[in-house]
Amino acid sequence: MNRRGAARLRAGHPWVYRSDVQAGEQVPAGALVEVRDERGRKLGVAFYSSASQIAIRLLDSGELADEKLPELLRERIAAAAAWRRERVRDADSYRVIFSESDLLPGLIVDKYNDVLVLQALTQAFHRADVRQVVIDSLAGEFAGASIVERVDAHIQELEQLPSRPSQLVLGERAASIFTLNGVRFHFDALAGQKTGAFLDQRENYAAAARYAHGQALDCFSYQGGFALHLARRCESVTAVDSSRPALEVAEQNEELNRDQYRAGEIEWIEANAFDLLKDYAAARREYDIVVLDPPAFAKTKRAVPTALSGYKELNLRALKMLRPGGALMTCSCSFHVSEAEFLEMLGAAAADAGRRVRIVEKRGASSDHPVLLNVPETAYLKCVICEVLG
Ligand code: SAH
Repeated sequence: MNRRGAARLRAGHPWVYRSDVQAGEQVPAGALVEVRDERGRKLGVAFYSSASQIAIRLLDSGELADEKLPELLRERIAAAAAWRRERVRDADSYRVIFSESDLLPGLIVDKYNDVLVLQALTQAFHRADVRQVVIDSLAGEFAGASIVERVDAHIQELEQLPSRPSQLVLGERAASIFTLNGVRFHFDALAGQKTGAFLDQRENYAAAARYAHGQALDCFSYQGGFALHLARRCESVTAVDSSRPALEVAEQNEELNRDQYRAGEIEWIEANAFDLLKDYAAARREYDIVVLDPPAFAKTKRAVPTALSGYKELNLRALKMLRPGGALMTCSCSFHVSEAEFLEMLGAAAADAGRRVRIVEKRGASSDHPVLLNVPETAYLKCVICEVLG
């Protein structure tokens, strides 16, 4: 690999782009390869992709023979599972394996009670031998669990892999009821619209509940993650999402938790949150807590300015509607928008809204999505809790 690729690995980032790699002739797709710098010095072993722009994902900075790969994978999967078991409280569902952060670049596994969802994002994790090791290890770690493999058409295209349906690879159940912080949710890995829950928000749901009081508004509510937590503490909850299928599941989730609510029914509204916030702000509606958890607005670096103006519009309107003493929980899952840019946007929104706002917590993804230092892609989620003073 060239000097730039080697420098990237030495700086702690496990990816090297195709333009920085000189692969030997006929390196097979998904092969374990030895990586050397421009002067031939060994940098470690990596998974090779013959198709993706990310040609190299470093697995280890030592040496590793092919026949030792299964053992290394088994050890890392076991370590990832043990790490979660030790840390995750009040939930039967969490991310078991978070790719680079668990030194398993290209593998994601989520646990929804007794259903595990596996996503292989690279050619290497599609190799039959590697997949078998992963499935066997997971079955050993989580006895009795089913495993569903979720296949993403976009990834299959990037990695030039055959497209195939998502399917059960172990056991019989693809659906479960899972619990986060005592709140129950439906999960069905193979149902049409289903993409799973946002497990990265698990600890933020609990945090939101700590500030919840009075009247709540949950924007971009999906299947009700925040709304269902708020409903245990608030007098009324309004939740907005543009997706009807998401709201249908949200209503079923509400039924599952009916016994826990102080409030009457949660009001689920199918609408564009931008329009709804504009209308509600114009109508001078007021709330005691507002949650903003939109989808990633900036999918590329170039989209950042437009994304920031979208975030600002939402936050400005939300801040205007909060009563003094009220809380804003505002999130961004755009990796390309930095925390500094997000806070600057929030400051501008507060100024334009004419509100004095105090930051009470700066948060990220739940601890089962650990951040790997030097890999900023693992630190994508920003979540700021503010209090409106006046
Ligand atoms: N807060 C949710 C996750 C939100 S994901 C949770 O914790 O589970 C983002 C959601 O925004 C999706 O459900 C999507 O349907 C919705 N969405 C996207 N654009 C929207 C818009 N303009 N108005 C309202 N909802 C929108």
